[in-house]
Amino acid sequence: MTTIKLHNTRTRGKEVLNPINPDDVRLYLCGPTVYDRAHLGNARPVVVFDVLYRLLRHVYGTDHVTYARNFTDVDDKINATALARKEAGAPGTLEELVQERTEETISWYLADMAELGALEPDHMPRATAYIPQMIAMIEELIDKGHAYPDGAGHVLFSVKSYKDYGALSGRSVDDMIAGARVEVADNKRDPMDFVLWKPSTDELPGWDSPWGRGRPGWHIECSAMSHELFGDSFDIHGGGNDLMFPHHENEIAQSCCAHPEGDFAKIWLHNEMLQVEGKKMSKSLGNFFTVRDLLDQGYPGEVIRLVFLQTHYRKPMDWTDKKAKEAEATLRKWYQLAATALDNEEPYVGVINALSDDLNTAQAIAELHQLSHAGDAASMRASLKFMGLMGADTPTWAAGENIDLTLYERKLFDAREVAMQSKDFSEVDRLKAAFVAAGVEVRMSKTGVELVPGPSFDASKLDAI
Ligand code: AMP
Ligand code: ZN
Repeated sequence: MTTIKLHNTRTRGKEVLNPINPDDVRLYLCGPTVYDRAHLGNARPVVVFDVLYRLLRHVYGTDHVTYARNFTDVDDKINATALARKEAGAPGTLEELVQERTEETISWYLADMAELGALEPDHMPRATAYIPQMIAMIEELIDKGHAYPDGAGHVLFSVKSYKDYGALSGRSVDDMIAGARVEVADNKRDPMDFVLWKPSTDELPGWDSPWGRGRPGWHIECSAMSHELFGDSFDIHGGGNDLMFPHHENEIAQSCCAHPEGDFAKIWLHNEMLQVEGKKMSKSLGNFFTVRDLLDQGYPGEVIRLVFLQTHYRKPMDWTDKKAKEAEATLRKWYQLAATALDNEEPYVGVINALSDDLNTAQAIAELHQLSHAGDAASMRASLKFMGLMGADTPTWAAGENIDLTLYERKLFDAREVAMQSKDFSEVDRLKAAFVAAGVEVRMSKTGVELVPGPSFDASKLDAI
């Protein structure tokens, strides 16, 4: 069986994945807070962990992997959008408006991520459907001396009660206090203590609890949902590295204190952040956009995915327009080759091996380039599908232009042979100019000629050649 190695944030090294139960490999990813469309950065963990999910299914079997990704559907930002709608005269109660907002955001999210070739996880738990489990876990933490109610509707986790706090991100509690600008609130016994439960108003979403009507803190959601779905211990927990502290430290503290018999997650995987044209994506810099913005501008989902996969998940990745243009030309070429094969091959072993080495997607793409040079259509087709870069068939944006350029390559090659003898290159130049005018990139080397259709490829212009 293929050995999968993954970089575990907890141990800071690459480890062989030894599933707790190879018949049910379990993967949990922190999902989005559903108050608005996903921005491009939000898509990075989705694509990274989709590749992992596909790899696990390949190695352990489709029915032997369980992937859960939650929706955080209780949050101040969601409440704020509902309040704004109500103030603008929208009908319905505030609770109904909150629900309307989360429903529409979830449907957008699923549609956008599907366009990026991401498979739907097996479980997509919504926080609001697991409130009793959260309350039970908080009660357990209080019983075991790890949490305390403040008497005013809050319950706080006592960070000092968990000796391993900070082990994941490798910081001491003092460093964290200095770095995190934690608010010192009257109700906290220690400034690092964090909220497990907080009060809610009558109008906003809230649930009855032993501490009054309220709602859960963000961190307890993932601890309670992953426990309900996966039990005390599971294999892999993922997220962006912005979540390492405090979110993941807090998840570990809660889960390990409530269920000390288990390990919680054995391997922690974190993706680095996405930037845009070398800068942090931010609204103030004007380089903030959603996945849907890009799709609407005509960037196909497969192109976005290929750009993402070119960078290893533990490195910062830079989204640039140039990369997208190049990725589009590459995919058109690959689809042409793949279109000549049938669906009966396994993904190429070089691709599987690259991904098994801590998800080396950049190497996997290098392997696809090799397949392209070798003209291995069957392996190309199977590997593109495996990597989520191709659905059932050539995507419509690239289909219809599936013209076989090999005849033209031959023509240009022959013309050059003739020209080398006659020293008259006018026909070669004429052909080159015609290909460029048809949106085809001409690559000539000593050994051959390669024609690559670019984004502005217009097949009808080839007729004149
Ligand atoms: P949020 O909805 O803000 O909780 O974020 C959802 C996911 O998107 C989390 O896993 C974050 O780590 C991830 N994320 C947010 N911004 C970026 C970014 N610029 N690059 C990569 N991942 C990001
Ligand atoms: Zn989480």
